Amino acid sequence: MIRIAIPRADRLADYEEAVRRAGGEPIVVDPADYPPANVVQEFDGVLLPGGGDIEPATYGEIRHASFSPAETGRDEYELSLVRHVLEVDLPLFAICRGIQVLNVARGGTLVQDIPSQLPDAGPHRVAEPRTAIAHTVTIAVDSLLDHLIGGPAGDLCPVNSRHHQSVKGLGAGLVVSGEAPDGVIEAVEDPSQQFCLGVQWHPENFWRTDQFAALFRGFIEAAGRKSRKI
Ligand code: MN
Repeated sequence: MIRIAIPRADRLADYEEAVRRAGGEPIVVDPADYPPANVVQEFDGVLLPGGGDIEPATYGEIRHASFSPAETGRDEYELSLVRHVLEVDLPLFAICRGIQVLNVARGGTLVQDIPSQLPDAGPHRVAEPRTAIAHTVTIAVDSLLDHLIGGPAGDLCPVNSRHHQSVKGLGAGLVVSGEAPDGVIEAVEDPSQQFCLGVQWHPENFWRTDQFAALFRGFIEAAGRKSRKI
């Protein structure tokens, strides 16, 4: 089996189902049982799920009034996990909060609150239903994202959206591969890694319709290659 580690968080069912349907075995990990150094030895890939805000001190800012933290311990564990994962080029798929963790782990910063800090931005918090299309994403031509879900010319991709933060200053080694019409960064990747992709929307919510199954299949395929190499 292709083993995918998902750091413990609330509401992981859709992430687990999307991984399973793409041929992976999702395993929920936490720091007590799986220190980051062990995760990169024992797993074929890591999926970072959504969740609350990262403590802004980790990227040198003070808290905005809207700050709403994730579960205790997630910041430290997930930031350390990303650093270990990228060090050994293990496939990484980072979703919503995950793209923000990826960016901060590489020294990047975040827009802490889109509604108040980018007042001209479009809607990024459309809560229900979870597959409601909120805006499009322009996919960068020839990016990993383009190869997975793009059309002949990069393409506009309709996505759901449930976030009030986004990537601001880009972390080292990352490139933007998806942008909303208002300029909000919706996807980043590290071209030097075999599979390192962060998306700001929630592709896992679409497992019933397969709309973003190609993202999970690409991730699991890369994890499968990795597992054969080790
Ligand atoms: Mn969005």
